[in-house]
Order: sequence, then structure tokens, then C-alpha cells
Amino acid sequence: MATAAVVGSGPNGLAAAIRLARAGLTVTVLEGAERPGGGTHTSELTLPGLLHDDCAAIHPTGVASPFLSSLGLERYGLRWLWPEIDLAHPLDDGRAGVISRDMARTVDSLGRDGAAWRRLFAPLTARFPRIADEVFRPVPHLPRHPLALARFGLGVLPPATWTARYWRDEPARALFLGVAAHAFGRLDTPLSGSVGMLLATAGHAVGWPVAEGGTYAITTAMLRLLDTLGGTVRTGVTVTSLDHLTELLGAAPDIVLLDTAPGAAARIVGDRLPARVRRALTRYRHGPAVHKVDYAIEGDVPWTNDDCRRAGTLHLGGGAAEIAAAEAATARGTLPRRPFTLVGQQYLADPSRSKDGLNPLYAYAHIPHGHTGDATEAVTAQIERFAPGFRDRIRATHSRTALQLAAHDPNYVGGDIAGGANDARQLLLRPRAAADPYSLGVPGVYLCSASTPPGAGVHGMCGARAAESALAHLDAPARRA
Ligand SMILES: Cc1cc2nc3c(=O)[nH]c(=O)nc-3n(C[C@H](O)[C@H](O)[C@H](O)COP(=O)(O)OP(=O)(O)OC[C@H]3O[C@@H](n4cnc5c(N)ncnc54)[C@H](O)[C@@H]3O)c2cc1C
Repeated sequence: MATAAVVGSGPNGLAAAIRLARAGLTVTVLEGAERPGGGTHTSELTLPGLLHDDCAAIHPTGVASPFLSSLGLERYGLRWLWPEIDLAHPLDDGRAGVISRDMARTVDSLGRDGAAWRRLFAPLTARFPRIADEVFRPVPHLPRHPLALARFGLGVLPPATWTARYWRDEPARALFLGVAAHAFGRLDTPLSGSVGMLLATAGHAVGWPVAEGGTYAITTAMLRLLDTLGGTVRTGVTVTSLDHLTELLGAAPDIVLLDTAPGAAARIVGDRLPARVRRALTRYRHGPAVHKVDYAIEGDVPWTNDDCRRAGTLHLGGGAAEIAAAEAATARGTLPRRPFTLVGQQYLADPSRSKDGLNPLYAYAHIPHGHTGDATEAVTAQIERFAPGFRDRIRATHSRTALQLAAHDPNYVGGDIAGGANDARQLLLRPRAAADPYSLGVPGVYLCSASTPPGAGVHGMCGARAAESALAHLDAPARRA
């Protein structure tokens, strides 16, 4: 029976392991941390009984993922929960644009731009399963749904700031740029609207849900499934080289998948890497970082805008021009006075995370790559800006700087949580220009992390696609699954 080793147990490592185990391989996952799961941990970060998502929190790409959906993870305990409003973007004047699975609600929130928002997103929403099937793979591929992809592509190609001009008023413009800011970087460059187009369409089609009990429930379900397939996970083992891996397993595995950053992959594979692949991996660019803050709050956040009180996710960055300027400054390496900030109120959809009238609140600000300072006050000030009186409700705070995030999970190089800069080049060709982006040019060795297509998110698609690529190189019997 063929053997496989997966280095790293983030959602992509586990997805790869499940795909390979389903194909009949004997799979061992080796994880450096004491707990598997990478960016999916949930912990009592502030006070006992309050469940905070350490990293990933909101799961439009999880619920939309063709691979995760195919696994039936609900049988292993995963339950998606939706807030009443998926996303709200408050403005200083008290208005807020919202994204909802109920398009009429979004249209209502956008006033005179509502009809134009519907014209753009309703046809994409109707085609979302076909669009998801196209975008959750390497960009250069033969489309299965060319019409759906072409329609989506029209919105994806221009800079996000151009697309925002399609609307006339701040709620719609800011709403779109806030979603586009999930790409982490300048919003005035080609393809900078692509992540925004995908996440906004997903918001209407499948929503922005959370996992009951915390994001770690996704990992728990994947681990249970992997266990039924005979796969094993060893934690507390940081793999330093292919020889080290062979030593740990007692024999060289037939295939190796690395759920690591490209630079780490270059170190692990070492001299065996072809020079051109080494060059590409060591030149791979990482993007801006985040500063994460978790709060324990008494009751709810006193948002000025009522819709914000019902929203699972909030984008705090003011109007469109302010967001574009803040993202440009962050990309340049300057911390803006008011950094773009995301807030998660997962407890609204999932009250099991709260205790005794105290609720866990999740927030992070976009900050420069490798920033060494503490941006906690900037995050708190952004929330207070749209929810006066917020400070009085804080009972405990837990912060992680960019460098502390990188220490928590080495894949978050310099605090970059997106697995690499989402500039046009790396959106199209990630991690390098190659017919098989997962192959590291060494027979049987593949990269499967969020630094490969289709990029960041808890969707497992990078791992599943890398596993497909690896299986294509094995004997025919192992390929059948
Ligand atoms: C603060 C924050 C907020 C986020 N919010 C969201 C969100 O709301 N929704 C969303 O979908 N995504 C979100 N993400 C992104 C998401 O978490 C990642 O895109 C996703 O976890 C990537 O999965 P992965 O398997 O590629 O890598 P990771 O989840 O990073 O896992 C990699 C694993 O490999 C291990 N590892 C690395 N090197 C080695 C080695 N040499 N030996 C052994 N083990 C090794 C690491 O310890 C880690 O456990 C967020 C991330 C962060 C940090």
C-alpha cells in the first residue's frame, strides 16, 4: 500500500490527508503544534467559558467549498450557524450597508444604489455553485462553466476602486471596498476586486456562517473522518527536512505534502529542489499582517446602527476613500491612524460561546507586514467610533501582534494571514508559474497550503487539489476513490 506524509494539520493538510486516505493510501499527518488544526483553533482566550476563535472565524468559503461539502462533515459533528445579517458596514453618519442572503435586505440598506447592487450580484448569486466550481481551482484552467466564469470575470478584472464607482453613494461603495479589503493590499490595482466579488456573491448565495462551538469544530469533524479512514495525526513534531521526515516515519513515504509556507517548504526540501523552484519559493511575497484582539464584553456592543446589532461580521473603516487609503498605507508599510478593522460577533448565531451575560467579541486590524507594535488601542477606537460606550462594556482583552500570530502558526509569516500577497501575479500564479502549481519539482513532493491555489480560507481546496495532483503520479489502483 502506498504511503503519504502530510506536514502540517491546517485545514489544507487535513483535506489532503482525507483525500489521500480515501484513495487507499496509508496517511500520517505530522504537526508542529501540540494541537492539530493550524488556523482553526478555538480557545478560552479571555475568561473561562468564553469561546474565542484564535484565527479563522467566518466561513463563506467553508460552506461554499466543493471539497468540504462533499465530506458530509455534519455526520462528524459540524453544524453551520448563520447570523440574521451576514455582514454590516457602518458609516459615521449612522447608515450601514449590509450583505444578507435575503437580497431585498441588502437592496433596502443601500438606498438609491440598491437596484444597481441587485443588477450586479443577483445573476452571479444565481450562478454561484458554477462560479465556486471555477474559482476554487488554479486560475489558468479550462473552464467547465465558461459563461458563468465570463460574467464573474467582468467584475473581477478591474481594480476594486473602479468597480466601487458603479454605485453613487457611500453605503454601497464602502460595503464593496470593505469586502474587497479581504485581499489585503492596494485596492486600485487590477484584480484587486476579485476577492470582494467572490465574498460578496458568496454572502448572498450561501451567507457568512460560523461553526457551532467555534471554528475548531471543523477540524474536529475532519479529524474524526480521517480517523475512520485509518489516517493518523502526530502532534508536537516540527519537520525540518525530508531526511528528518524519513527518520520520524521509519521509511521514506511515497508522497509528501507540505502544508507550510513556501519559504519553509524550500528549507524542508533543501538541496533536492530544482534551482528554478527554489528561486520562486524564496522570492514568494508575503502581504500585510493583522493585529488580533479578543474581548470579553458585558452584554452586546452598543452599535449606533441597528443592523450592526444583528450582524455576524462588521467591517469598520468608514467610507470608500478612507478604506482605499488605509489599505494603501498598510501595503506601503505604514500603520494608518484608523486601520481597516473586522469585527466578529459569532456569539449572535452561536450563543454556546457565551457565559453568564458575558460575550466573546472577535476583532482584527490590517497592519503592515511584520509590524512590531501593539495596535490594540487602534482596534478598540475603531469599534468605539461606531459604537460609543463600547469601552465601558469590556471586561477582559487578549491581543496578538503580527509577530505573536507568526509564533502561533509559522505559516503566518510576518503576521500575513492570507498565505501570501494577493497582488495580480500571485492571484493568478501561486506560488509560481507552473503547469502544476502544487508540484515542487521533486517527484512525489507537493505544496498544499494556502500559498497554493485557490489561496486563503478554511475551505480545504488547496489540500484537496494538491492531493489530486499527487495521486495522478501514483499507480492507477491508488487513484480510484
Ligand atoms: C487572525 C486570522 C483570521 C482569519 N480569519 C479567517 C476567516 O474568518 N475565515 C477563513 O476562511 N479564513 C480565515 N483565516 C485564514 C485561515 O485560517 C487560513 O487561510 C487557513 O487556516 C489556511 O489553512 P492551511 O492548512 O493552509 O494552513 P494553516 O491553517 O496555517 O495550518 C498550517 C499548519 O502547519 C503546521 N506546520 C507548519 N510548518 C510545519 C512543520 N515544518 N512541521 C510540522 N507542522 C508544521 C502549523 O503549525 C499549522 O498547524 C484567518 C487567519 C487568521 C490568522
